[in-house]
Amino acid sequence: MSIATVNPATGETLQTFAALTKEEIEERILAADAAYRGYRTTSFAHRQERMRQAARLLEEDLEAVARMMTLEMGKTLVAARAEAAKCVKAMRWYAEHAEELLADEHPSLADVKDSGGARVLVRYRPLGPVLAVMPWNFPLWQVVRFAAPALMAGNVGLLKHASNVPQTAVYLEDLFRRAGFADGCFQTLLIGTGAVEEVLRDPRVVAATLTGSEPAGRSVASVAGDEIKKTVLELGGSDPYLVLPSADVERAAKVGVTARVQNNGQSCIAAKRFIVHAKVYDDFVEQFVRGMSRLAVGDPMDEATDVGPLSSERGRESLEELVEDARERGASVLCGGRRPAGRTAGWYYEPTVLADISARMRIDQEEAFGPVATLYRASDLDEALRLANDTPFGLSSNVWTRDADEQERCVRDLEAGGIYFNGMTASHPGFPFGGVKRSGYGRELAAHGLHEFCNVTTVWHG
Ligand code: NAP
Repeated sequence: MSIATVNPATGETLQTFAALTKEEIEERILAADAAYRGYRTTSFAHRQERMRQAARLLEEDLEAVARMMTLEMGKTLVAARAEAAKCVKAMRWYAEHAEELLADEHPSLADVKDSGGARVLVRYRPLGPVLAVMPWNFPLWQVVRFAAPALMAGNVGLLKHASNVPQTAVYLEDLFRRAGFADGCFQTLLIGTGAVEEVLRDPRVVAATLTGSEPAGRSVASVAGDEIKKTVLELGGSDPYLVLPSADVERAAKVGVTARVQNNGQSCIAAKRFIVHAKVYDDFVEQFVRGMSRLAVGDPMDEATDVGPLSSERGRESLEELVEDARERGASVLCGGRRPAGRTAGWYYEPTVLADISARMRIDQEEAFGPVATLYRASDLDEALRLANDTPFGLSSNVWTRDADEQERCVRDLEAGGIYFNGMTASHPGFPFGGVKRSGYGRELAAHGLHEFCNVTTVWHG
């Protein structure tokens, strides 16, 4: 895959970039290693000032950055602005909280005494240069949610971004440099996937985080495993969206539409499988399908657009293949199921709702990365939970119920890294984010994300 900006709204190639040579990659790893030696001992105040400056600069650049993201991967301009604003918030959150979250911990006096020690503490020390392999779908946010905690913890970053968002990747390096982080603290490597293994095997690169698909995660984790290097994997999701009898059905349908089509349907935490109790099924389906059918599909730069194009031609083909497979095996198409009429350029696809899903269909077990929802009817909570967990993924989940016992049951039994009641999943810097099963392992955000790339050191005094 070439490294290029190709406008998904038109299919036009706007700018291509040369991949780094072996020598240039070596220069950057060398710079990361050198930068780490100085940066690891900087004070929190030093890091905090620079992180706050990065937030200020991004705030100033917000409109231009949002347009760049829309141009590169097709999210609506409205969504791109919100993404950039969320990054500003996360940078400020880590600037504010990192010191307290990385403060020394003191085990109980009883344990200290029991160990025969006089004084014991646990210190969070940085690890070194971390490789971040990132996807295009939230081209700024995915990177910032790694970079902000990593830099605040005293690590330095090497970014291998998705090949279709090179301008955003270059911008990020520039942003951290302008904010005052020393050269080498945060660098973008314009490289293809073929060069990732060599970077990861380099002894100066100590760990990796990857957000992306299962095959990419497997590949990076295999190499890292071979090198005994820590990894965090944030992979795909096929989140369930349960609607139970006590739900506010009107709201559940309205929020469900947004939860499915956010980011043109290309979000790992989008609600994808709608599992609805038989008592409210017809009511929910009617309102949900009406909402999906009324969405404005079109130019992502247009403020009135709800759903823009998919990010690539291949992305749209993969989605079409999933829908066709389901249709051939008996799924009913309640709306959409095709490209919008009259749009010859760009990779658009109509918001789609599929019912009568069965286990023989690929979409039952695979992630639909686009505006396609599947519907399931459940006769009771047991069946709803069984359907919800009947997936290789376990990223997040949504449940609409006002019944406290049902909520407790869901917290006990849902196999997912997040459970959101009466609302849709949305990450926040203060809450841990990540999955179980094939959705990956490790956590980002909050204290958990900060601690992932730390050397948690026990310091014992006799
Ligand atoms: P992808 O194809 O896996 O790409 C993600 C990144 O991995 C890109 O930088 C890509 O580089 C690189 N990559 C691909 N194959 C690789 C390999 N064999 N070795 C090393 N690097 C490799 O995923 P995507 O299509 O961009 O993103 C969509 C997927 O990401 C979906 O499954 C989505 O659910 C998941 N996702 C998960 C989260 C989460 O937090 N859990 C968040 C967002 C997205 P190239 O671009 O050069 O191929």
